[in-house]
Amino acid sequence: MMLRVEEIETFYGASQALFGMSLKIGSNEVVTLMGRNGMGKTTTVNSIMGIVRPSSGRVVFEADDITHAPAYRIARYGIGLVPEGRQVFPNLSVRENLIATAANRFNSRDPWTVESVLAMFPELEARMTSMANLLSGGEQQMLAIGRALMTNPKLLILDEATEGLAPLIRHEIWNCLERLKKAGQAILVIDKNIDDLKRIADRHYVVEKGQVVWTGTTAELDENADLIQEKLGV
Ligand code: ATP
Repeated sequence: MMLRVEEIETFYGASQALFGMSLKIGSNEVVTLMGRNGMGKTTTVNSIMGIVRPSSGRVVFEADDITHAPAYRIARYGIGLVPEGRQVFPNLSVRENLIATAANRFNSRDPWTVESVLAMFPELEARMTSMANLLSGGEQQMLAIGRALMTNPKLLILDEATEGLAPLIRHEIWNCLERLKKAGQAILVIDKNIDDLKRIADRHYVVEKGQVVWTGTTAELDENADLIQEKLGV
C-alpha cells in the first residue's frame, strides 16, 4: 500500500472530528471518500497533509511514518493536494502559480511541465500572465489541479474539485481525472457526484461521524446502492 491511515483521532480544540479513521490506497489506485457534509472528509485529508494533527493513530506513506511531519515535508514525500476552495496563490500569475511548486523529485521519465498542464487544460494558455485571483472559478480549479500535478506527486488528493462549477467544466475535470487514472496516477478523491466517481474509482470509503462505515469496490457499491444512498442522504 502507498498510503495507510491507521485509526486516527483528530480534534479541533475540545471538539473531536475523527474517531478512529482508517483507509488505504495502493499505487495506481483511485479511491474515494464519500459522506455527508461535516462527516470528516476534509479533516481526514488535512490530517494526512499535516495541516491538522491527529492526536492518536498513524499516517504512513510508503515506508515513512508521516504522522508528525510538517506539511511542507509531506508534500515533498510525494503527496499533491488540490485543496477544498482551490486556494491558488491570488497575487501570482497563472505561470507563477504553476512553477512555484514545480519539482520532479522522483525522476519521473515524463514529468509534468507547464506545457503538459496547458495541453490538459488549454483554457489556461490565454491566461498565463493574469493574476490567479482574476480567473473564473473553473479556471482557478484547473490551475489548482495543474499546480498539484507540477509537483509530480505519487499520490494526488482532490477535495471537492468540481464543487460549484458549470457542467462543461466539471466534465473537463472528470476527463482529466480519467486520463490521470489511465496513466497510473494514484488518486484520493472527495466529491459529491457518485456517478462520476464510479467512472474512475477502484474502491470507496463512506465516512460517517469521523469514521469509515462502509468500504468496497465500485461493483460492491452498486450492489449496496440502497445502503449507500441512505448513508449519503441523497
Ligand atoms: P464538508 O463536505 O462540509 O467539508 P467534511 O466531511 O469534509 O464536510 P469536515 O470539514 O472534515 O467534514 O468536518 C468534520 C467536523 O469537524 C465537523 O463537525 C466540522 O464542523 C468540524 N470542523 C471542521 N473544521 C473545523 C475547524 N477548523 N474548527 C472546528 N471544527 C471544525
